[in-house]
Amino acid sequence: MIILKTTNLSKVYNPDTVPVHALKDVSISFEKGEFTSIVGPSGSGKTTLLNMLGGLDNPTSGTVEVDGQVITGMKDGALIDFRLHNIGFVFQHYNLIPVFTALENVSFIMLLQNRKKDEMEARARNLLEAVGLGERLDARPKQLSGGQQQRVAVARALASEPKFILADEPTANLDSASAMNLLDIMEKMNREQNITFIFSTHDQRVIDRARRVVTMVDGAISKDERMKEAV
Ligand code: ADP
Ligand code: ADP
Repeated sequence: MIILKTTNLSKVYNPDTVPVHALKDVSISFEKGEFTSIVGPSGSGKTTLLNMLGGLDNPTSGTVEVDGQVITGMKDGALIDFRLHNIGFVFQHYNLIPVFTALENVSFIMLLQNRKKDEMEARARNLLEAVGLGERLDARPKQLSGGQQQRVAVARALASEPKFILADEPTANLDSASAMNLLDIMEKMNREQNITFIFSTHDQRVIDRARRVVTMVDGAISKDERMKEAV
């Protein structure tokens, strides 16, 4: 089942001064349950593509469809609400709220969704346990390592029950043990709960774990490979 699709997606930054053609006519689909890595040299358009897929920025032309619904051109308020209910994000710099505990960071998104308090807290606890932080519910981000903060970010991304998770260089600031641990957790969620992950990376060890590798060069997709299922 296709849950995310772009059609002739293009992005030109600074069209009126020094135009940068960051995405050129990209048409690609993603299926439910994918574990996909977007790779390519710095400046090839990975972040731009992820931003468009998540409705964080508007394309210059072309469309993005989430589960059959075109999100391109949606009004800001509607788009914010749509993102909140459909898309999970993980960023390179974790982007947790510093004054909130781990539990509050994960609960917050559900608060925005107007969920019941009991249900919200139970779900946040379960998610933090699933990422190995059941003992650190009350820790604030600065009391946690980078790897732990990114695991909170993954729990937060899952909290809203999104259709898929977009992660821009999620392991870029992690040492290799923490990076592999994060991948283990993501892979387990993918395998056991069919959670869809689409992540960009430079890291070959992370690329090796993906089941589909999409390579970007100069704003276009140059390769799209599906790996054999590891046994
Ligand atoms: P990657 O994530 O693969 O490093 P990006 O999507 O960040 O690539 O960038 C693609 C191209 O677009 C690069 O040439 C970059 O300098 C340019 N670019 C990215 N964001 C902006 C922006 N906000 N304004 C102008 N140019 C940008
Ligand atoms: P990454 O390599 O992880 O894609 P970058 O360091 O290229 O990230 O970009 C970081 C931020 O700077 C992004 O928000 C991107 O949109 C912006 N950016 C990148 N290139 C340019 C540019 N040439 N002009 C303005 N903003 C840019």
